[in-house]
Amino acid sequence: MTTGITIALSKGRIFDDTVPLLKAAGVVALDDPETSRKLILPTNRDNVQLIIVRASDVPTYVQYGAADMGVAGKDVLQEHGGSGLYQPLDLQIARCRMMVAVRDEFDYESAVRRGARVRVATKYLRTAREHFAEKGMHVDLIKLYGSMELAPLVGLADAIVDLVSSGNTLKANHLKAVEEIMPISARLVINQAALKLKRETIQPMLEAFSAAVPKI
Ligand code: ATP
Ligand code: MG
Repeated sequence: MTTGITIALSKGRIFDDTVPLLKAAGVVALDDPETSRKLILPTNRDNVQLIIVRASDVPTYVQYGAADMGVAGKDVLQEHGGSGLYQPLDLQIARCRMMVAVRDEFDYESAVRRGARVRVATKYLRTAREHFAEKGMHVDLIKLYGSMELAPLVGLADAIVDLVSSGNTLKANHLKAVEEIMPISARLVINQAALKLKRETIQPMLEAFSAAVPKI
């Protein structure tokens, strides 16, 4: 008997970019999450199923063993804290940068130099708190759940902490990136107990993923 495993993925870029890696490991989803309403997707292998969860929920499913492994952005893992998770592999997918951005006309450097109290809106509270604490800056953090770019435009905040890839969204909203906090990419995460108990299924997948990741 082979041990069954469950892999947690989020719809959109994480799913799309993980498909080729799964294929390299001999796993093909039998449903498309963009068109199917199913949250549990069978695959061509009867010992592997995929579950579709919110991107920020992937670490939680894997931490509690409801999924044996998953794919999550470093941004999400940073906020979650990574407890109970083994993170063996940077998959080099969903790459972008965690940045501080302000309105075009806002003088961020001067605000930093003057030690001004800066209002920062973000969905990444923990990452933002750590970043500004390291810089010795006093900030008031405002938690948002999306559309962070709007906050500086309507006076909710002076700055935002958000993910940036092309910068087109910032530009379209008259914002500029002023500081990089960290480069972001998605990681493979594995439940620590599952790695031991289901090693015969997980280890070969880990090796196939690892061989399929572009070496940068
Ligand atoms: P939701 O859309 O459900 O609120 P989300 O915005 O976190 O959640 P996605 O937009 O699918 O979900 O992002 C998933 C992951 O992809 C993020 O956690 C991040 O690691 C990465 N990501 C987000 N935005 C970009 C981007 N512009 N370019 C590349 N990777 C990105
Ligand atoms: Mg999104």
